[in-house]
Amino acid sequence: MKILVLNCGSSSLKYQLFAMPEEAVLIKGTVEKIGSDDAIHAYKTDGQKGETVSEILDHREAIRQVVAALTSPEVGVLKEAAEITAVGHRVVHGGERFSLSTLINGEVKQAIRDTFDLAPLHNPANLLGIEAMEEVLPAVPQVAVFDTAFHQTMPMEHFLYPIPYVLYQRHKVRRYGFHGTSHRYVTSRVPALVGRDVTGLKVISCHIGNGASVAAIWRGRSIDTSMGMTPLEGLMMGTRSGDIDPSIHEYVMEKEGLTFDELNSMLNKHSGLYGVSGITGDMRQIVEERSKGNTRAGVAFSMYTYRIRKYIGAYAAAMNGVDVILFTAGVGENSPLLRRSVLERLTYLGIEVDDRANEEGKGERLITTPNSKVAVCVIPTNEELMIARDTNSLVTGLSTTPDRDSISFDT
Ligand code: ADP
Repeated sequence: MKILVLNCGSSSLKYQLFAMPEEAVLIKGTVEKIGSDDAIHAYKTDGQKGETVSEILDHREAIRQVVAALTSPEVGVLKEAAEITAVGHRVVHGGERFSLSTLINGEVKQAIRDTFDLAPLHNPANLLGIEAMEEVLPAVPQVAVFDTAFHQTMPMEHFLYPIPYVLYQRHKVRRYGFHGTSHRYVTSRVPALVGRDVTGLKVISCHIGNGASVAAIWRGRSIDTSMGMTPLEGLMMGTRSGDIDPSIHEYVMEKEGLTFDELNSMLNKHSGLYGVSGITGDMRQIVEERSKGNTRAGVAFSMYTYRIRKYIGAYAAAMNGVDVILFTAGVGENSPLLRRSVLERLTYLGIEVDDRANEEGKGERLITTPNSKVAVCVIPTNEELMIARDTNSLVTGLSTTPDRDSISFDT
C-alpha cells in the first residue's frame, strides 16, 4: 500500500510517499515558489536526488508535477499513479470539530473552510492542496490530519481564556494548541524508551523548533499546551514573541504609530530570538554568536531556555508531578546546550542528566541516569509518519488512535 503525505503551504508544498505497513519512505520532496516561473521541485529517493526549475503557477500544477515525477522512469518509485492508495494531508486547524483524523468529504472541507478565520495563513493553503489533489487523483481517498486534534482532550478549565464567556460562545475564542501530530508521535515512542505504557505516566513534551510548544500529557492525553487560539501564545520562539502582556499591543501601536497589521507582523516575524538578539531567529546562529560573547544573543538564549523551564515547572504542577520529559524538533533534537540549560535548574524534580548521552548520543534516546526520578528523552519527531499511519488506518477501516471520550482530569 502506498500513502502520499502532503503538507501544503501558500506558495510551497512538502510531500513524502510511504510504503505501508512497512513505514518505508520511498521518496520525499518539496516544491517551492509555486505561482512563479522559476518554481523549484526538489526530491530525494533512496538512491538519488533531483531538482527541476520550471513554471508552476498553481497548486494543481505542482501536484501534477509531483505525481508525474513519482511515476517517471528516472525516479521509478511508482509504475502508475493508480498505485497511490490514499493521500494524507496535514491540516493546521480543525477547530472544535475534529479530535481525530478523518476521511475527507464535502462536509469536512466545509468545516476546514469554516476555520479560515482561526488560521488564515494555513487552512486556505491546506484546503487548496486537498482540492488540487482531488482534481489530479479523483478516485483516491483523502484524509485530513489536524495539528489541533490531539489537544481536543484539554478540559474546559484549561482551554478557556478568562475573558467574557460569550466570546467563546459567539466566536469560539479559546485555546486550541498546535503541533499535536508531533506531540502525539513522540508520546507514542515513550513505551519503547521507558518501558512503560503512557497510560500510567505524566509526560511533558517539548517541541522546540522555529515554532515551539510544550504539552502536558496525562495518561496519553493532552491536558494542556502552551500555544493557544493561535500559534503565537506560549514559549518564546525563533521570531514569535510567545506570552506577553496584552496591554503592550495598544501601548506600542500608539508609541510607534503602528497599524494592526504591522503589530501582528512584529509579534510573529520580528520578535522572539530574532527580536531580542537583533541578529537572527535561527538557534544555531544564536548559539554561535553567544559563544563569541555577543550579549544580546546571550540574553535571547537565556530568555528562551528560562521560558521553557517555566512551562515545564507549570505543567509538573498542573499534573501534580512528571515522569517523563521529551525533547523534539530542530532545536530540541539537535542542541545538547539547550537541553542542558533547560534541565540544569530542574534538579528539584530529581532529574539527573547523563551528560554523555545528552552531548554525544544520536537519535532516539534516554539522556538521564538510571537514578533520575524523571526520565528525559530525545525523540526525533516524525509528523509525516503519523499522518501516513492515520491515513493507512482510516482507509483500511482500522482505528489506531485511542477513543477520546471527555475526560475527567484528576491527578
Ligand atoms: P520548524 O518549526 O520550521 O519545523 P525545525 O523543527 O526544523 O523548525 O527547527 C529549526 C530550528 O532548529 C532552527 O532554529 C535551527 O537553528 C535549529 N537547529 C537545528 N540544528 C541545530 C543545532 N545543532 N543546534 C541548535 N539549533 C539547531
